[in-house]
Amino acid sequence: MSETEFTADVLVVGAGPTGLLLAGDLATAGLRVTVLEKRAEESPLTRAFAVHARTLELLDARGLADELIATGRTVSSLQLFGRIRIDLAGLPTRFPFVLVTPQYNTERVLRERAVKAGADLRRGVEVTGLRQDAEGVTLTARTADGEQGFRARYAVGADGVRSSVRDLLGIPFPGESVVRSVMLADVRLEHEPEELLTAGAGEAGFAFLAPFGDGWYRVVGWNREHQAPDSDPVVLAELADLLREVTGRDFGMGEARWTSRFHSDERQAPTYRSGRVLLAGDAAHCHSPAGGQGMNTGLQDAANLSWKLASVLRGWSPDALLDTYQTERHPVGRAVLRSSGALVRLALGRHAPARALRSAIGAAANHLGPLAESGAKQVSGIGYAYPAEKGAHPLVGRRVPDLRLAVDEPGGPARLHEALRSGRAVLVSNDELSVADSWAERVVTAAPADPHGKLRDTVLLVRPDGYAAWACADPTRGELRTALSHWLGRP
Ligand SMILES: Cc1cc2nc3c(=O)[nH]c(=O)nc-3n(C[C@H](O)[C@H](O)[C@H](O)COP(=O)(O)OP(=O)(O)OC[C@H]3O[C@@H](n4cnc5c(N)ncnc54)[C@H](O)[C@@H]3O)c2cc1C
Repeated sequence: MSETEFTADVLVVGAGPTGLLLAGDLATAGLRVTVLEKRAEESPLTRAFAVHARTLELLDARGLADELIATGRTVSSLQLFGRIRIDLAGLPTRFPFVLVTPQYNTERVLRERAVKAGADLRRGVEVTGLRQDAEGVTLTARTADGEQGFRARYAVGADGVRSSVRDLLGIPFPGESVVRSVMLADVRLEHEPEELLTAGAGEAGFAFLAPFGDGWYRVVGWNREHQAPDSDPVVLAELADLLREVTGRDFGMGEARWTSRFHSDERQAPTYRSGRVLLAGDAAHCHSPAGGQGMNTGLQDAANLSWKLASVLRGWSPDALLDTYQTERHPVGRAVLRSSGALVRLALGRHAPARALRSAIGAAANHLGPLAESGAKQVSGIGYAYPAEKGAHPLVGRRVPDLRLAVDEPGGPARLHEALRSGRAVLVSNDELSVADSWAERVVTAAPADPHGKLRDTVLLVRPDGYAAWACADPTRGELRTALSHWLGRP
């Protein structure tokens, strides 16, 4: 293939949740996207099962949340280590809960959207080579028909924890293994627990139990006294004993439809970008599954990156916009690494300090509202904000809640997440802003439903990923024009 022949605008390596969300967004934006996936068949296995509030918000902003929620069960609090309870019911979101649904459901919903929007999903294509120059990226891949080449302006490695793209770029993945030989089983239970996700930790190890919503339960367990290699089979009786011991309850374990062992690493790439290639999802960061945040963090990486890539490729923004992907998402990845690591160390701790800490955190979380609240905001993902320039309006960089909007035509968007389904930015203002007409292809304008509410004098520009790009009380036409040009490019 010649170095000038582009087969796509963006090559996405990996059809996991991260790659599929990204590909769907780019294809919806009208770009040519090819997804290269080494697996010839879809994976029937599930790893993630917890979908948190912020992820549901971004799925809502793509019209997918209701469909996914229908596949699982929602729980409104997390019970950790028998004592720590994180209550999600009070979260300021349309989705004050965790959705428990197997990862393959999330992937199916995202895959169907991506393919429908025109993404070209190639299975049985394993990326083995990468070369980039000033104009684009060339990937070589192993396929059933021999080696094949692909070329695009940009490429994204969403190829998981053992990312070939990361290795081909020479980006290190420093970190360590935090826990080995964790047992997984999807089972029936004779005595179903109450609504909550259940977890317990003690001398014997830890265990965690979550409903799939269809009568099956996911059990995760770690036996301190028995550390087998990942290839060893899971013995159900061992898992049942462990669950009984650490939760103090007997759920009566029945048949299993799937079992596995895994080990968990805590690692993060120091950079998420090398020239025209970016890393997202597990390829960029991985951590313990405690708190169920891996897939959620990857999906949010994809939502942060997709509109930036689209804007650069359409010539609306300079290439430097892609650097903000690193400045915004790397700190979030680091924070997730820390919080999930702290949770798993707490669960693994055998010694008195860890036990005391478990009790103390349990007591504090149960009695101190603010601690529990910030824990809930962090786990759910709605508490994260991005850096703002000095002197910026206090809303800048923050997640914008699902504002109610005045409906100006039948079927028009009645809330922010509906307006964001256009894939465009949203300009919220009580005033008619004719200045914005020149950017009609790039921004939706809307008025808040309550003209006397918090935004009464404020004009707010919401990025396509739902974070505030710019806000100003009573801006002049010139100020508004400058802000729109900065964020959306010259008209
Ligand atoms: C036991 C367990 C429980 C978990 N529970 C949760 C949870 O409850 N909530 C949560 O948010 N997260 C959870 N996670 C983490 C979650 O599963 C991952 O974070 C998520 O799958 C990452 O998605 P991804 O798309 O980035 O990568 P992946 O899902 O790993 O997808 C990468 C894709 O790239 C493909 N690929 C790899 N190399 C190549 C190549 N060279 N060429 C082409 N294709 C390639 C792979 O085949 C794969 O399909 C859990 C993980 C484990 C192990």
